[in-house]
Amino acid sequence: MRSLDRRALLAGLATLPMAGPARAALPEGRLGKLVASYPDHLADVIEDMLVWRDGARMAIGADRPPRGFEEMLRSATIADQLRQTYERGPPAGAPPRDQSPGRLRNTAFFVKMYGDCTKGAVTPRMRPVAWLPRTTRQMVQLTEVNGVATRMESIVGQLDRLPDRLKAFLVPSAGTYNCRAVADTGVASMHGYGAAIDINVAHSDYWAWANRRGAIAYRNRIPFEIVEIFEAADFIWGGKWYHFDTMHFEYRPEMFA
Ligand SMILES: [Zn+2]
Repeated sequence: MRSLDRRALLAGLATLPMAGPARAALPEGRLGKLVASYPDHLADVIEDMLVWRDGARMAIGADRPPRGFEEMLRSATIADQLRQTYERGPPAGAPPRDQSPGRLRNTAFFVKMYGDCTKGAVTPRMRPVAWLPRTTRQMVQLTEVNGVATRMESIVGQLDRLPDRLKAFLVPSAGTYNCRAVADTGVASMHGYGAAIDINVAHSDYWAWANRRGAIAYRNRIPFEIVEIFEAADFIWGGKWYHFDTMHFEYRPEMFA
């Protein structure tokens, strides 16, 4: 090979993105999906940086070595947040160990988008939404960021037309906004951003209530007709998590394939 060709080849290689086993583990197209999911906030991905519309940049962390699921739960990078994909459709039984798409969340990412509830920055962006107004008088509070409150009104309109046997799973809602860390991880949940809702706790199942000896025994009573309506509006369901939480739905458009 002539030296000029070799130099041209090396120059070409230098512009390729960093490759490695950790980076390869991030499913194809997930970063593009992330940017497209939050058009009000995100502008681009440049190398390993997420670029926000206000010019801010955040490290994605795609090149860092892989870590265990428990460690990622406590300190997820933006790349970790995208490692698993949420699949629409009827659940295929109990999720495999640590298959919990959406449980990994990068705190800095969501605080920048929705505000820090511990500093009172989330509640000013919330507004009340009537929870099944044809059925009950309950109001719930949801953020207007990313149109979450408006999206919930569209969901509510569909849920309110379901038969009474299905509405029993929905009413009353066990709540939306709650500025409190998740017990087992110490990290804020989507309830702290006003972008999540719990349906009727009386017909729900939660991993921490199940027998903790050995593997978690999966249990769910929520009919898929309910889940389907939320999924169509880009809300993910906690019933598809290994650490299942079947009353829980949160707005996470970036998690879908
Ligand atoms: Zn919840």
